Parts: sequence; structure tokens; C-alpha cells
Amino acid sequence: MKITFPHLGNACFAIKALLDGLEVDYIIPPLSNRDALEIGSLHSPEEICLPFKIMIGNYIQSIKQGADTILFVGSCGPCRFGEYCELQMNLLRKLGYNLEFIVLDAPKDIGIKELFNRIGKITTNSSKSTVEKLKILNYANSIIHLIDRIEEKARFLSGYEINKGECKNLLNQCKTEAFKCNSPEEMLVHFKKYEKKISNIHIDKRKDPIKIAIIGEIYTIIEPFSNLYIEDKLMDYGVSTKRHLSPSWWLKNLTLLPLKLNSLDIRRASREYLPLYIGGHARECIGETVLAKEKGFDGAIQIFPMGCMPEIVSKAILPSISKDKDFPILTLVVDEMTGEAGYITRIEAFLDLLERRKENVLYGN
Ligand code: SF4
Repeated sequence: MKITFPHLGNACFAIKALLDGLEVDYIIPPLSNRDALEIGSLHSPEEICLPFKIMIGNYIQSIKQGADTILFVGSCGPCRFGEYCELQMNLLRKLGYNLEFIVLDAPKDIGIKELFNRIGKITTNSSKSTVEKLKILNYANSIIHLIDRIEEKARFLSGYEINKGECKNLLNQCKTEAFKCNSPEEMLVHFKKYEKKISNIHIDKRKDPIKIAIIGEIYTIIEPFSNLYIEDKLMDYGVSTKRHLSPSWWLKNLTLLPLKLNSLDIRRASREYLPLYIGGHARECIGETVLAKEKGFDGAIQIFPMGCMPEIVSKAILPSISKDKDFPILTLVVDEMTGEAGYITRIEAFLDLLERRKENVLYGN
């Protein structure tokens, strides 16, 4: 059995650590790139959303390297994500690939026994004892939280850094080197080292950079290739960004969901504009926008794939929030045809607007 999985932001580090610890064979697909998108677009239904296409590309790139089992998370949610697994299995079968799919669904949908049964499939070839497996799982959990924390700090501090590019370089170095770690323990030490390094970079606290919240559909905001590396670009412009959604947020949210203690802040903040969960992360998008304004951010950028149903609803609500709270919001829709030049022009125009607003406040205009 050779496991592979689609790229979902920093999740690859935790999965790598987990499979390294269990001593289970795996293949990490190349970081999502144009080839993956082209392969995925070639085989996927034209109207399906962008994440589906890139994931198909990830799978096929791994299958070509010998992967025979796909690990994925499922959902019975009301948007297309609920159909992803079934569609992907059928599509790959039709392409002639004989694969096993291990789909990790929420216990409320498949039952706790079935969930353990599926987890058991991942660990069948592992010689580790139950205690060791639990320890490895705990490491993987710490790793996903650590790398998301490092990324969050680096992205925010880049607006305050004294040596231009330091945060971005450290973050890239941290991620590149993490792929060379051979055990969960080694990766944990590695990330702890980088967390210290990021916390110790030289910053100028007197700076008042533009602060932007990155909101929208979870895949397109956590997978850098799918949003044309927007967070990196904003770092280059000296902008501080904050993104609430991340793999560690998703995990925490899922754990607290049965107790109804998940995302209390987002639920409170979204109540006025979208009091219901309508699928995807539309409610989170609305709540995060309100929270960003409350926390003194200068604006928000919403990103979602063409045709994403939940985010189209959010997009329709965001102008009301923007008007009520005097809070600028830019929406970027991405698909396989998105051209970089037009995309950058829109971001730059938005940054100009935010800068002008800041100056007006400063000089009392
Ligand atoms: S949230 Fe949007 S992009 Fe993601 S699967 Fe659902 S419809 Fe597609």
C-alpha cells in the first residue's frame, strides 16, 4: 500500500509526520502547480470547481510515482464538496486506475465504528503499538498547529519587518526544510526552532502597515497555487495579512462541533448578516469580515473559485457589510483561466485605495 493525498495547505506536513511515524509508505504529490491543474482540467467535468481539478492533478501525479491508495476527508455538506469523493473515485476508475480510497468522514455521518475501521486501514501495515500510534497522532496534531502558527506570525509580521523579505524567506525555508524531516519528532523540533526564529525577527513597532484579512473558500485561501500566491505577493508589498481558516482551525472546529463550541466568535459576528450554515465556509467568511473590522483591519480580500455556491452567497452579502461598516472588500474569483497580470492590477488598485484611506484618516481629510 502506497498512500497519497491531495495538497490542502500545511496539512501535508502533519500527514507526512503521521505516515513517517507509522512507517507507512506514501507519496507526497509535487506542490500544486500548473501541470497538476492542466492534468486535472483535462479529465474533470468542465463546470466543477477549481479545487476538484487541482486535486485530480495531484492524484494522477502521485499515481505516476506508484501511489495506489488515496487518503481524503469527506463531507456530506450541501455544496459540491459532499460529492467530491464519489465523483473522484468514479473519474479515476474510468481513467483505468485501480485505487483504494480511504475517506475520513465525520463520525456523525458514518458512525464512530466506521471511522475507526477506516483509520485502521491506514495503520494496517504499521508495526507500531497502539500507545505509539496515539503518540504519533498527538505529534501530528501539534505539528499542524505549530506550522499554521508560524505561518500566521510570519504573514502578519511582514508588515513590520525591518529587513525586507525576512519573514517570507524564513517561512519558505521553514517549509522547504520540513520536507526533509524523517520522523514526527524531528519535524516537531524543526518547527519549534523556526517558531523561535520568526518570533525573534527585527520589527519596527512604530510602523502602521496596511492590514488585510484573507477570507473566502477554504481550499483557495489555504492552497497558495490556487490563489496565485496572493499572501506572498502581499508580503512583498509590506502588507500584514491574517487568515482565520487553516487546516488547524478546521481540525479544531471539527473537534468542537459535537459540543457546539466551535467558532463561537465567528457565529456571533455573522449572526446579523448570515445566521445559518449554508455549506462551504460562507458563514465563516461573513463572520471573519465583521471580526476583521472590529479588530482594526483596513480591508478584506475574498477569494473563491468560479461557480463556488456558498461563496457566491457571501459575495452578495459582503457589500452590505462594507457599506454598513465602511470597510473595503475586494473579491477575486479564480479558475484555470485566471491571468496573473489582471489579478495583480486589481490587488494593486485595492492597496492604493487602502493607502489613500489611511492617509486621509492621518491628515484628517
Ligand atoms: S466550497 Fe465551493 S469550491 Fe469548495 S467544494 Fe464547495 S462549491 Fe466547490
